[in-house]
Amino acid sequence: MDLGYQGKVAGITGAASSKGIGFAIARQMLQEGASVFLCDLKQEAVDAAVKELSAYGTVRGYAADVSGGQAVAAMFDRAMADFGKIDVFVSNAGIYPQCALMDMTAAQWDTVMGVNLRSVFLCAQNAYRCMKGRGGVLINAASYAAVLASAGSGAYAASKSAVYSLTKTLAAELAPYNIRVNGFIPGVIATGMTQGVIEAKEDSLVSQIALRRLGEPDDVARAVAFLASDAAGYITGTFVEISGGKLCVQNPDYAYQNRGNSNG
Ligand code: NAP
Repeated sequence: MDLGYQGKVAGITGAASSKGIGFAIARQMLQEGASVFLCDLKQEAVDAAVKELSAYGTVRGYAADVSGGQAVAAMFDRAMADFGKIDVFVSNAGIYPQCALMDMTAAQWDTVMGVNLRSVFLCAQNAYRCMKGRGGVLINAASYAAVLASAGSGAYAASKSAVYSLTKTLAAELAPYNIRVNGFIPGVIATGMTQGVIEAKEDSLVSQIALRRLGEPDDVARAVAFLASDAAGYITGTFVEISGGKLCVQNPDYAYQNRGNSNG
C-alpha cells in the first residue's frame, strides 16, 4: 500500500537513539518518501542520527529539550524555515525512571511530567500553529502503563495516562482544523529504555505476551507510519496498541499448552 508520504514533512522527538522507537519511526517515514526532522536532547546524538538516516532521504536534526517552551518553539521555527511546512508530528520523547512514589522528590516528579506530558502539550500547540489552514497529523507516545499502572513507575504511568486523555481532547479540539490526533501504546519493545528491565526478567515479560516475543522498534514504526498516513484518514482520537497481545488475556499460556488439542 502506498501510504502517500512523498512530498510530506514529518517531525519526530526523541529520535536520535539508533536502538529507539523514534529513530525507527524516522527511518520508516524516510523510506516511505517523507522528508524528516528529528529532535533529541544531545547535539552529538542528533548529529550521529542525522548522518545515519541521511542514507534514506532528506533529514535535519535539532537538539532540544522537549519539556521547555522556548526550545520547542525554536525547533518548530527551524523546521518551518528548513522545510516550509509540517504534515506529521510525532511526540515520542520520553523517560522511564524507576522510583517508588514515596521515594520520589517533587523535582523528579516534575521532570517526568515535563518530558512525558508537558512536551506533548507544547508540541501540539506549536504543531497547530504550523498546520492550521493546511491540516496535518499528530501522534503521541503513550504506554501500556497508561491503561495498567505498575508499582515502581507511578509517575511514568500517571504521565502516560494523562497523554492518553490529552490526545483525545486534542483530537476533538483540532478536528475542525483537519488535524488528526492519535497515539500509540507500545507493549515491551527492546530499546535502551527497556534494556535493564528486559535483562532482569525477560522470561516473565514474554510470558505475558500472546505472540511470545518482545517487540522491535520497527514493529512500532510500521504501525505509526500507517496511523500518520492518509490511509488512516478517518482515524482520530484513538490509540493503536503494538504489544503482541500483552495481557490481552490473563493466561496466554493456556493457548500454548492446549495447542493441537482443539477440535475447532
Ligand atoms: P528511548 O530509547 O529511551 O528513546 C527516548 C529518546 O528520547 C532518547 O533518545 C532520549 O535521549 C530522548 N529524550 C529524553 N528526554 C528528552 C528531552 N527532554 N528532550 C528531547 N529528547 C529527550 O525510548 P523508547 O523505548 O524508544 O521509547 C520511545 C517512547 O515510547 C517513549 O515515550 C516511551 O515512554 C514510549 N514507550 C516505550 C516502550 C518500550 O517498551 N520501549 C513501552 C511503552 C512506551 P537520551 O537518550 O539522551 O536520554
